Amino acid sequence: MGDLDMFKRVCCWAVTLFFACILGPGLSETVFAAKSVPVSDFEFFADDDGRYDFETVSAPAFAAAFQPYPHRTISLGITKTVYWLRFRIPPRESGETAADSQFFQLDNPNIDRIDLYVPQAKAAVSGAPYLAKAVGVSRPAANREIWDNTWVFFVPPDYRQEQYWYLRLESSSALRMSAKLWRGNTFFTEALYKNMGFGLFYGILTAMLLFNLFTFFVLRDKAYFYYVLYLAFMLLYQLQVHGYLRLWLDLPYRLYNAVFWLWLAGAFMAAICFTGKFLQLSRADTFWRRSREILMATALLQGALGVWGYNIPANHIAHAMGLAGPLLFMTLAIASYRRGFRPARYYIIAWGVLMAGIVTWVLAAYWPALTGAENYLLTATAAETILLSFALGDRVKILLGKEAVLQQNMQYYQGLSMTDELTCLYNRRYLARKMGENIAWAKQREMPLTLMLIDLDHFKFYNDEYGHMEGDKVLIRLGEVLLRVLDASQPAFRFGGEEFVVILPDMNCHDALQVADRIQRNLRDEVFSPAADVRITVTVSIGIAELRRPNDSAESLFRRADEAMYKAKADGRNRAVCF
Ligand code: GH3
Ligand code: MG
Ligand code: MG
Repeated sequence: MGDLDMFKRVCCWAVTLFFACILGPGLSETVFAAKSVPVSDFEFFADDDGRYDFETVSAPAFAAAFQPYPHRTISLGITKTVYWLRFRIPPRESGETAADSQFFQLDNPNIDRIDLYVPQAKAAVSGAPYLAKAVGVSRPAANREIWDNTWVFFVPPDYRQEQYWYLRLESSSALRMSAKLWRGNTFFTEALYKNMGFGLFYGILTAMLLFNLFTFFVLRDKAYFYYVLYLAFMLLYQLQVHGYLRLWLDLPYRLYNAVFWLWLAGAFMAAICFTGKFLQLSRADTFWRRSREILMATALLQGALGVWGYNIPANHIAHAMGLAGPLLFMTLAIASYRRGFRPARYYIIAWGVLMAGIVTWVLAAYWPALTGAENYLLTATAAETILLSFALGDRVKILLGKEAVLQQNMQYYQGLSMTDELTCLYNRRYLARKMGENIAWAKQREMPLTLMLIDLDHFKFYNDEYGHMEGDKVLIRLGEVLLRVLDASQPAFRFGGEEFVVILPDMNCHDALQVADRIQRNLRDEVFSPAADVRITVTVSIGIAELRRPNDSAESLFRRADEAMYKAKADGRNRAVCF
């Protein structure tokens, strides 16, 4: 697949996911919200120090303290203030009877303390006209009437329609939620779809985690390790922030609260390390080193504050980091891309997508009109993890490509370092290595081996007569003859000047002399015309030595081949002698 195609595909993915982020929540609102009855028209009272109790607040004299709340969704920010809300639930529609069940839902899983007071016709609890229900993250999971990640209350059939319901909210996380009334089985249908949606989301995260974990084991690339860590922390964080972890993990609140901040700080720190590895940022880069130190310190501070129970400052820091972190990662990725590191492209897109999700998530904490923020964050997180896996794959592809080019270059230079420029045979440097190897091999296996020395006859005369350039042509042609006659197991070297060497593994004198004969016959067919009207051939003398075990060395073998050559020259040239 072409690089551009891949780029287009990732862009298409990003755009599709982005629209899914926007359309998804809208769609779920229209499909499911129609079935629930929104509860609104709240009146509220801010109890700054949490001094008031239900008896005081619900007393008729206190009614004037309540003010109308202007929004449909409850959104009171991140605050220490305790809020009291009172409201009436919408009356039953005609045709519905008291036997039809109703459920009241507050849809934010992260509220620390929720106290709901439901007006009841029959004074059930020691004469009190209200039924008190106490749930929230800080309370035992067993307090829940319905096993759901949000807060769902069974509405008693004999509640008093005309009476106010009271709600006391206290939390260190954003006090933001909508209140809904579900009739008949609609709640369970919606919960099924909701859980399927979350299942898909956690499934994507888990799949990405396992996939990248295996890739890490195969490639041993630290970038994958940090990414897997990031995913693991992100998965735990997302399980907790959406209330699922609380259903399975009935830890004491302090501990449960502490681990939440550990996941978040862990995710931040893993993302920082991941960015450094992914973009191959160097410690020598001062901007990166500084921002890394600041981010790490902030993540640690946020984690420590949260673990010690200072949730509100920890929350503010987390929001700030949620915005600053991706922004910094994107900036670094853009800079890295402009320096020519192409895998940074997908990295920019991935963090851009998450950034969009976090911006909505953070804004939603302070801006009541923004709905479906958790869906934005979920989709953005899923999209980000997929895009980051893409980015990692792309990075590995490009890095492996670079590696391959490097390997090719190395092979090329290695080739150059052992090749003779003029004849393209091996050179003298390589001969030394090859000789050692071949002799050792032959001795070990007790196989014959011969060394052949080839020297052109009266070559000085040729050079003097026709010039050095014409002489070179003869050397080149002799090289071609050698390559033609010899096979791949018989390496030929230009030893120097007009002398050549051939190693003949697994051959004794008898075989080697046959090879020599073939070389000489082939050379005889090569006609040179070094000058106008001149057509001549050249001859070579060949000295051969056979390896004698066990004390023959490269030097002694060479010396004997040289002696054989001397004999060939002395005997009249154009012949081969083997010792
Ligand atoms: P002999 O038959 O005894 O070998 O006679 P010869 O003239 O070939 O003697 P020798 O081997 O000593 O000659 C070497 C000559 O080879 C000297 C030089 O002119 C020529 N020569 C050496 N290197 C090169 C080269 O790279 N190119 C060319 N054209 N000639 C070379
Ligand atoms: Mg010579
Ligand atoms: Mg010669």
